[in-house]
This record gives sequence, C-alpha cells and structure tokens, in this order.
Amino acid sequence: MARRTLTACIAASMVFTPQLGATAASATPQTDPCPMFRWTTLGTAGGPIPTPERTEPANLIEAGDQVILVDAGDAAASQLAKAGRAVGDVHTVFLSHLHLDHTGGLAAVVGLRWMNEYPGVITVYGPPGTQALVDGIIASMAMPAQMGFGLGLPSKPSDRIKAVELTDGQVVEMGDLRVKVVANNHLDGPGDFAKKAGALAFSYRFELGDRSITYTGDTGPDDRVTELATGSDMLVSEVIEVDQMIAMIAKQRPELADFMLNAAREHFTTHHVTPEQVGKMAAAAGVGRVVLTHYVIPGPLGESAPSLYSQVRQNFSGEVDLSRDLSSYDVGCSR
Ligand SMILES: [Zn+2]
Ligand SMILES: [Zn+2]
Repeated sequence: MARRTLTACIAASMVFTPQLGATAASATPQTDPCPMFRWTTLGTAGGPIPTPERTEPANLIEAGDQVILVDAGDAAASQLAKAGRAVGDVHTVFLSHLHLDHTGGLAAVVGLRWMNEYPGVITVYGPPGTQALVDGIIASMAMPAQMGFGLGLPSKPSDRIKAVELTDGQVVEMGDLRVKVVANNHLDGPGDFAKKAGALAFSYRFELGDRSITYTGDTGPDDRVTELATGSDMLVSEVIEVDQMIAMIAKQRPELADFMLNAAREHFTTHHVTPEQVGKMAAAAGVGRVVLTHYVIPGPLGESAPSLYSQVRQNFSGEVDLSRDLSSYDVGCSR
C-alpha cells in the first residue's frame, strides 16, 4: 500500500506566484511545509476521435510554485483557462509521446503565451522528435513575428520556447520537483516502425518531497510502468474498453474485413490497458489511489463508468476515481 493516505490539505483559496525565473529566484525563500501538489485532468478523451463530452488528453500539475502541463491535446489552452490558469502561468510542458491527440494543443499554448508576451521561457520536454515538433511550431510563427499584433514587433519566438528531448531512465530535477522518465510499450508493434524511427512513449513519475504521482501516458501492460509507479500516492492511468470499442468500430465500419478488426483488437490489447489491467498494475505497485483518464470508450463516460470502476476494483481495493475534464486531485501532506 502507499505510504499514507491522501488528504486534501491545500485550501482552494491558496494563492501563490506561478511565475518562475529571475524575479521569483530573487524572492526571499520560504519553506512551505506542505506545498501544493495537485493534478487536474484538463482533457480526459483518449484517441484521435473528438468527442462532445471529453477534450483531448491534457493535464495540469501545480507543484509548489510550478505550473506544468502534462500532454497538450487540442483544447489544452482553453481548458487551462477553465481551470483558472493563464497560458502564461505555464513554464513547463511534459509530452508523454508525439501522437497528435496528445500534442494538438501545444501550438496554441506556446503561441498564445507568446502573443501575450508573458515573460519567461516555456520548456517543452518530451521524447525524441520533440525538438522537430517545437521547431515546426516556431516556423509557423514566422509571419506573425514579422507582422506583430498592433503593438510593435513581438519578441523572437525561438527566444521564448525551448525543447528538451528526454531519454529512457532520465531524471529531471526542477527545484523541489523530480520527474522520472520511463519508456513504455505503447509504440511497440508489428514492423517496429516506432523503433526504426527512434520514437519513444514515456510514463512519468512526479515527486515532490515524499509525495508522488505516476502518470502512465499511453501504455500497454508493462512491468516498467508498474515499477515506476511503486509506492506512488496516486496513479493516473489511461484505460480502454476493448470489446466495446471493437463492437462500435464493427458497427460504424461494416466494410472492414475481419483481419482489420483483429488488428485493431491486437493494437488495443497490447498498446493500451484495460480496467482490469489498471487494477492489477495499481495493486502490484501498491499505489494509494487510482485516477482514470484518457478514456478509449465508445460513448459517454456515464455509460461505461460502472463497468470501468468494478473491473479496476476486481484487483485493487484502494480508492478509484473516474476523472472528468477539470477534475482536480490534491495529494496531501503526511507532515
Ligand atoms: Zn493517447
Ligand atoms: Zn498514443
């Protein structure tokens, strides 16, 4: 089991300075015995099909005075606003992998941040290919940078956006926050296309003091992710309903041959995790709580929720939450 239970020790009205950089560094350091450590599921959809209920994958971490975006699917910028955060508050982004449903909102976050001349640099951490993604976004800003926004010429985009490509096993230190990076099997598959391209999909473990949150990103059942999550206070996991998704596809696409449906089933079962597998992973890792997100399900969450919940609980006796867009979870202090 996790080392302790979770409590919501952070007052919702707590105010802090989100801005990092030179001015923050010069402030008198004060040790908060229980700095904020909060996870918000900004967008809980999974897969490349937009839904009327859930926006594309994106999450917010508020850790002490750091405001971090974890994945940046379409609508990330507006979901941040709904969560009470400006794009200028965000100085760091972690991308789990470069499937476009996880990156489609990045251009808006960094571009609108730049348009508003929010101070500081935004750093985008991610797997190999992240530099090219960021370079492409910066390239798309060439003409706006030359024409300005009616207030003279803006700063140079390349001075305000930075990419850092991560490797498997790397640890990123960001003040009191540590981020452990582990590659998973989401991109494994026939033909080894991802391997040949040098692509990786990451799971992340965020640690603040003795508190920790593990985020699966997209993954299949993978012991490396279970190990990463060991002892975490909270496991934020993707989830898929395989049978229901296959049935939906077969109904919507009657022209598809059986071998294509079988290939889809193979993909779903090896590159994503079922609720039963999430429960197994959570139990084996001894996490304190499970938060489901990234729903690859055929319809509204309400229709799948009882089944998802009960299947996770088959193997895991701790608290299970089915997040919705803009659900927040505070990881309390033991001190
Ligand atoms: Zn995904
Ligand atoms: Zn993916």
